[in-house]
Amino acid sequence: MSNTATYDVIVVGARVAGAATAALLAQQGFEVLLLEKSTFPSPTVSCPLLFGNTLEILSKFGAEEVVDRLDAPKLRLYGTEYGFARVATHLPPYRGRNYAYSIQRVRLDEAIARHVEKIPGVTLREGFAVTDLIWENDRVVGVRGREHGAEIEELRARWAVVGADGRTSPVAKLVNASEYDVKPPHGYLYYAYYRNVTPVEEPSAMIYRNIPGMALLVFDADQDLTVLSIGGIDPPFEEARKDPEAAMQKMLQRVPEAAARFKNAERATPISGLAPFRMFRRQAYGPGWALTGDAAMRLDPVTGQGIYQGLHTSELLAEALTKIRDGAAWEPTMQEFQRRRDADSKGAYEFAFVQSQFAKQTWLSRRFLRHLAANPQLATYYFGTSNGVTPAEENFNLFQVLLIALRPVPKQARANA
Ligand SMILES: Cc1cc2nc3c(=O)[nH]c(=O)nc-3n(C[C@H](O)[C@H](O)[C@H](O)COP(=O)(O)OP(=O)(O)OC[C@H]3O[C@@H](n4cnc5c(N)ncnc54)[C@H](O)[C@@H]3O)c2cc1C
Repeated sequence: MSNTATYDVIVVGARVAGAATAALLAQQGFEVLLLEKSTFPSPTVSCPLLFGNTLEILSKFGAEEVVDRLDAPKLRLYGTEYGFARVATHLPPYRGRNYAYSIQRVRLDEAIARHVEKIPGVTLREGFAVTDLIWENDRVVGVRGREHGAEIEELRARWAVVGADGRTSPVAKLVNASEYDVKPPHGYLYYAYYRNVTPVEEPSAMIYRNIPGMALLVFDADQDLTVLSIGGIDPPFEEARKDPEAAMQKMLQRVPEAAARFKNAERATPISGLAPFRMFRRQAYGPGWALTGDAAMRLDPVTGQGIYQGLHTSELLAEALTKIRDGAAWEPTMQEFQRRRDADSKGAYEFAFVQSQFAKQTWLSRRFLRHLAANPQLATYYFGTSNGVTPAEENFNLFQVLLIALRPVPKQARANA
């Protein structure tokens, strides 16, 4: 055993949620050790859209400018095609940002980590895997781990050890964090980035839902690449996993508009995927420890809100730990942190689950979508859920949905049916 050092907070995991936690705490004067088992640049399974609400939180520690410099096209046009109705709209501005970015995680995570390690108060150690926690008097007071197979080190934290170590969180396992609001495994997902995709008039993020039980996603991304992703329940996962490329191509051919764009395309990255997975929330704190990001709450990626929710949890956590350092009691402050995390994410959590169901459309939903297709203002309002402008709860306001759906269907929407 070598080297016992003490920091104010130790954060395990240095991608989006961990990097944000470290940066926001350092801004409050904490000395933070940020530990990451991989070495950047390092890929991970995710092909994210970053909406205005996500960029807003990144701006709080200077990382929005870093992301702007990654040269991704500004995606203002966001749409869904249902076969019987096409709802495409310009994103309503979220605090001035009327666009989303689609950026490869291998570039995004490295750029944010390189930015955060320069913030005074943050020490980043890459290639360091945490293997155990140090407990004293039933309280977590540090971590054990090693860098690239070197000797085990003990590192101590005055205020907290934070697990920002992803959905399979070793920290959550070591503290035995309970899960709640669990949603059963459902859809699966495959994606890859392609080059030589025919550009459209305006860079866009399109989700095609004309195939029952499936969605095909096409997002214009950084480095002149375009993401193609399939997600769904039919064909079943076992069938799709035998040949994901064939499954993706089969879906693509069923959407002529997208197939035309990919006619001369070449795959630029390996195909990545995700087997059917559960959504969950985890108990987000205990004596001396806390969780954030996917470690604390796992959303289905279909609504593109995982990173935002992780960053927001990090914001709430940094606020709570600052209060504790300044004299507040641990238990009520952390209880309030978790209560706010749950309250703020309630609508988004349910919305992600409903969207992940790839359910058959009902008479009501078809009528509602036709109205959205015929009324750009209404479409913009509802699509504002994606970037946080419209509360996700609005999508569950059955009374409002009924009021809209029961109006006579406009002529042009009938013609499209
Ligand atoms: C296919 C797909 C598409 C998605 N699309 C979107 C989208 O459009 N928009 C969006 O906002 N979100 C999207 N998401 C969700 C998003 O990717 C996650 O919410 C986000 O990656 C969570 O970030 P995180 O920092 O919490 O965890 P992660 O990104 O999982 O990072 C955890 C880190 O912890 C490190 N770690 C783990 N164990 C240890 C250890 N023992 N010691 C040290 N380090 C450790 C890991 O190496 C890793 O780097 C998508 C996800 C998937 C799978």
